[in-house]
Amino acid sequence: MSQRTKIKALLQSQQTEIDVTVKGWVRAFRSNRFIALNDGSTNNNIQIVVDFENTDPALLKRITVGAALSVEGKLIASLGKGQTVEVVATEIEILGDSDPEKYPIQPKKHSLEFLRENAHLRFRTSTFGAIFRVRNSLAFAVHQFFQERGFVYLHTPVITASDAEGAGETFHVTNFDLDNIPKTETGEIDFKQDFFGRATNLTVSGQLEGELGAMALSDIYTFGPTFRAENSNTTRHLAEFWMIEPEVAFNDLVDNMDLAEDMLKYVIKYALDKNADDIEFLTQRLTEEEKTKPQNERSEMTLLEKLQFCLNNDFERLTYTEAIDILKESTPNKKKKFVYPVEGWGTDLQSEHERYLVEKHFKKPVILTDYPKEIKAFYMRQNDDGKTVRAMDILFPGIGEIVGGSQREERLDKLEQRMNEMGIPTEELWWYLDTRRFGSCPHAGFGLGFERLVLFVTGMGNIRDVIPFPRFPKNAEF
Ligand code: ATP
Ligand code: MN
Repeated sequence: MSQRTKIKALLQSQQTEIDVTVKGWVRAFRSNRFIALNDGSTNNNIQIVVDFENTDPALLKRITVGAALSVEGKLIASLGKGQTVEVVATEIEILGDSDPEKYPIQPKKHSLEFLRENAHLRFRTSTFGAIFRVRNSLAFAVHQFFQERGFVYLHTPVITASDAEGAGETFHVTNFDLDNIPKTETGEIDFKQDFFGRATNLTVSGQLEGELGAMALSDIYTFGPTFRAENSNTTRHLAEFWMIEPEVAFNDLVDNMDLAEDMLKYVIKYALDKNADDIEFLTQRLTEEEKTKPQNERSEMTLLEKLQFCLNNDFERLTYTEAIDILKESTPNKKKKFVYPVEGWGTDLQSEHERYLVEKHFKKPVILTDYPKEIKAFYMRQNDDGKTVRAMDILFPGIGEIVGGSQREERLDKLEQRMNEMGIPTEELWWYLDTRRFGSCPHAGFGLGFERLVLFVTGMGNIRDVIPFPRFPKNAEF
């Protein structure tokens, strides 16, 4: 009998008194008798009961935390508390030993920082098992949401010569010998001799290419790795993250907001249904963590309540201008409690301002629209007031910005004029401008940072804990 049954299925089994094979890693072994075994299919362990009196002591010694086992035995209704079924072992095989003196993951609470340094093994903890199962469900749900609506999944390039945001926070891609970089006569780097014959970088966004797809396929989305060399050591930024970018022909900003809100609710609901156990576990984890904070810093809702609240309430929609008015009049601003006082119209909102709107004022997700054109990208559609653009940012409690999007400028003359004002070379983006020359039409899209979504749904506090192997300044281990 080599067919293994996953622990999740065993724990749900309606049948008992059946022979089973189960494989997994030891989470705990107590009284030389009870093994808690986990195979990652669920946060719950199956209890293996060992007949220690009739088991070779040498084998018993090798049943240590972290060891990989194959167990044959009988599934029975459990007599003990805490589980409905357990496996009475008839045969135990050690597939892989784990030296208890050296194995870093002990059956006790480890700090998240410690586990980040042991990211190769942190999957074996209950917290990270739950996080990565939830992450998996969210990724699947994103695809299912768009596929059900007839969107085409478009793969935009990872290597590009354009910097979509013009922010310049890109990683260079080159195969130059770094000790001997070819220079031109005037002493500049001679990219003509580089692999692509020009300067290239890792993508910061698939949007511009996504727009090209939408101008023929109508509804597309991308879902891929994105790279930003921003040296911001925050709990919300990674150097490598995954972004979902839908782009839809004929949509305006309201359609765009509706799409984003529907999508967020859909994927959160999917994870709630699919990963009820994991979210329950993460809810308890967060509640425990919050107990260590002073009362006034604890959130009023549990994780589960926050997720349900998000599903059951419309996101608040208001303009940037309205938000500025609210912030100016707010108590923390008047009492000078903000680190950055609200400067007035035209400046970018600080994350403390965004969080005030979401967490204190509206107490729910907020969509801000119609930002000053000076603080937004060149491709956003210009409003008739001459001052604002059809931008939208979605702000989430505890996260801040989770989505950034806009209706795009589809009028060639307006777009070129804005690019000139902002010093963006129109010749280089000839292919982008061609869509405005041939059959241009209104269209809109947005970018959702996937890890920020996973942060929200898992209730974790640091983005480095919701991607398997985080890339951030001075860290590319594993
Ligand atoms: P922020 O102001 O938070 O840096 P941004 O304005 O740079 O965000 P966009 O360029 O609009 O963000 O990117 C779209 C989305 O991608 C953001 O709403 C966010 O969810 C996500 N995102 C942006 N930068 C990062 C990053 N460095 N790490 C993880 N996610 C990110
Ligand atoms: Mn940024």
